[in-house]
Amino acid sequence: MPQPQALDTLPVSSLKGVGAHTLERLEKLGIKSVQDLLFHLPLRYEDRTQIIPLGQLRPGQQALVEGRVEVCELLGKGRRSLICRIGDGSGFVNLRFFYFTARQQAALKRGILLRCFGEARSGFYGLEMAHPDYEPITGNPPEQTETRLTPVYPLTEGVHQKTMRRLIGQALEWGAASPSAGNGLEDWIPPPVLKTLRFPPLFEAIHLLHRPPADSSRENNDLTVAQRRLAFEELLAHHLSLCSFRAATRAQCAPVLKTSAAVAAAFRNRLPFPLTAAQRRVTGEIEADLVSGKPMLRLVQGDVGSGKTVVAAHIALAALSAGYQVAIMAPTELLAEQHRRNFAGWLEPLGFRVLLLVGKQKGRERQDVLNAIKSEQPGVVIGTHALFQEQVRFYRLGLVIIDEQHRFGVHQRLALREKGPRNGLYPHQLIMTATPIPRTLAMLEYADLDVSTIDELPPGRAPVHTAVIPASRRAEVISRIAAWIAQGRQVYWVCTLIEESDVLQCEAAEKTAALLAETLPDIRIALIHGRLKPLQKEAAMQRFKSRELDLLVATTVIEVGVDVPNASLMVIENPERLGLAQLHQLRGRIGRGPKESHCVLMYQPPLSELAKERLSILRETSDGFEIAERDLELRGPGEVLGTRQTGQLQFRIADLARDGPLLPHVKVAATTIQRDYPGHAQPLIRRWLGNAVRYADV
Ligand code: ADP
Ligand code: MG
Repeated sequence: MPQPQALDTLPVSSLKGVGAHTLERLEKLGIKSVQDLLFHLPLRYEDRTQIIPLGQLRPGQQALVEGRVEVCELLGKGRRSLICRIGDGSGFVNLRFFYFTARQQAALKRGILLRCFGEARSGFYGLEMAHPDYEPITGNPPEQTETRLTPVYPLTEGVHQKTMRRLIGQALEWGAASPSAGNGLEDWIPPPVLKTLRFPPLFEAIHLLHRPPADSSRENNDLTVAQRRLAFEELLAHHLSLCSFRAATRAQCAPVLKTSAAVAAAFRNRLPFPLTAAQRRVTGEIEADLVSGKPMLRLVQGDVGSGKTVVAAHIALAALSAGYQVAIMAPTELLAEQHRRNFAGWLEPLGFRVLLLVGKQKGRERQDVLNAIKSEQPGVVIGTHALFQEQVRFYRLGLVIIDEQHRFGVHQRLALREKGPRNGLYPHQLIMTATPIPRTLAMLEYADLDVSTIDELPPGRAPVHTAVIPASRRAEVISRIAAWIAQGRQVYWVCTLIEESDVLQCEAAEKTAALLAETLPDIRIALIHGRLKPLQKEAAMQRFKSRELDLLVATTVIEVGVDVPNASLMVIENPERLGLAQLHQLRGRIGRGPKESHCVLMYQPPLSELAKERLSILRETSDGFEIAERDLELRGPGEVLGTRQTGQLQFRIADLARDGPLLPHVKVAATTIQRDYPGHAQPLIRRWLGNAVRYADV
């Protein structure tokens, strides 16, 4: 009989029948403690509670059946299968085995009674079940059927479904034997919260999910509620961990970075345009953070084209004036290179150095940059992921700016921050994103951040007209391009593919570029994709920018940040394959100048109803927030917050598509815990995030 124990620290090896082999396999599933087993929930259930008469069995049905062996023989040529026919008077079914032992064959004697569970399907000789679970029934009276639904668990190679059921059965006994405090299964969700949401207590929910009574079907409300209760707890743990990170940050110190008025004036005077009111307001909000002595954690949201780059440069001045370095992280090399050019143009005349660090720099070149970063001179370092690497040591990092945050994970941005601390001072952090995340979802990712919004576009932007047309009208589109270019305008042609494969995407773009070059011989065309060297990419971009090119064929590498105001027509192939946020980003490359712009979404028919509706949202509006909200309505939060956009937000039980509506409650519950049950936060975080998340125990 199990003794009361702390199940979160009780290793699975304490269970019966867990040897080194199983232990290793279970670890692959992330299962180390008995508590982990309890949180390993079934994927689905099988109903083995009732015996279905064979006469009522239908193809496609999963069922428990019983019958006497009528005949058992080997059938087929070459690789033969064993067919065993059982009948119960109302009908029959053939059990088919492709793999079997001689012993198995011998045991299936005529006249014995078998109980089988499997999926029926129609076969050549009538209904059959391939490789059913079966057992001979010898007892008199016959054994009872199951009284509860049979759970089916996610498995890994080498761990059998039966083993998993048995182990979880043992874990449940431990849980039941340790109902009181100290067993690691405490209910950290405060009773008032449970009551408001009508959630069952923790162990009750867990028990129900592993052992649902016979009368609960998948639609059973109790099961759904139990599952929702656990998903809720997981989301709550994530939210609390962000909040706790934020609180820990608040307790740290940061350098006071005050922008020199003379430097700021010189900067603004050199700009070819005045800042918009929104840009000035947001700059002010950031500057106030930077002199607070506490590390800033701020998100700047601003739709594509709202002018976030110049705001970043402006606030970099604060760190630079105070003798600190600034690190700017961009999601692609293309964007890093573009930023380097812009920042160099703005900051070098003021006497500040601007460096570039990207993965493809090697040898001497790379070493020179690394040495410069280590040296005392303040400056801006712009780079990609390369900035995270071990060898990168900043002399005195005061401010980290992360552009297009949605491409990076929470963990990545925290890692960069950890490069900073010097004499107990942590760098400030600014995150910029154009991906408008609907409010409810934002809390999951950004609960640790203050938010500023640039809610105004620079003046003089002409609207972008968007047309949705089938690929069968390609020839027409191409001739329209020719006319457009004849008027001195520039064009993007964007190739997309379902596959995340770089190679395939590049090949497709190469083919399209060749085709366009052949059809439009007088037009200056270049190709840009992810597999080109940084210098080649930069050269092509530069030529496009200085109008030496008319048409740029590109893959989605140009999705973020690229800025060429004279380009005013964009063709996007296969837009139905991309998310709306991504399409909005792509389209944001045009409409940056005073001339009116056009975007052609050239889809591959046939288009599903949903796809039609989604593309028409883009035709109707160019407001990023509205697009995000409507996409959320159409597809649900799981899709909108795809891993790609969130930088891998992964949950064990929660599923945003299903559990998204819980998020507002999560926020309220977090507040309750922080206010009335502060001791519950850390155990909850530990239970769900373990030590996997560095900031959980900051
Ligand atoms: P995003 O917010 O998408 O990163 P960018 O920073 O790339 O936008 O800016 C888009 C374009 O708008 C750039 O060409 C930039 O020079 C220009 N721009 C930024 N601020 C202003 C402004 N206040 N007035 C006019 N143009 C501006
Ligand atoms: Mg940008």
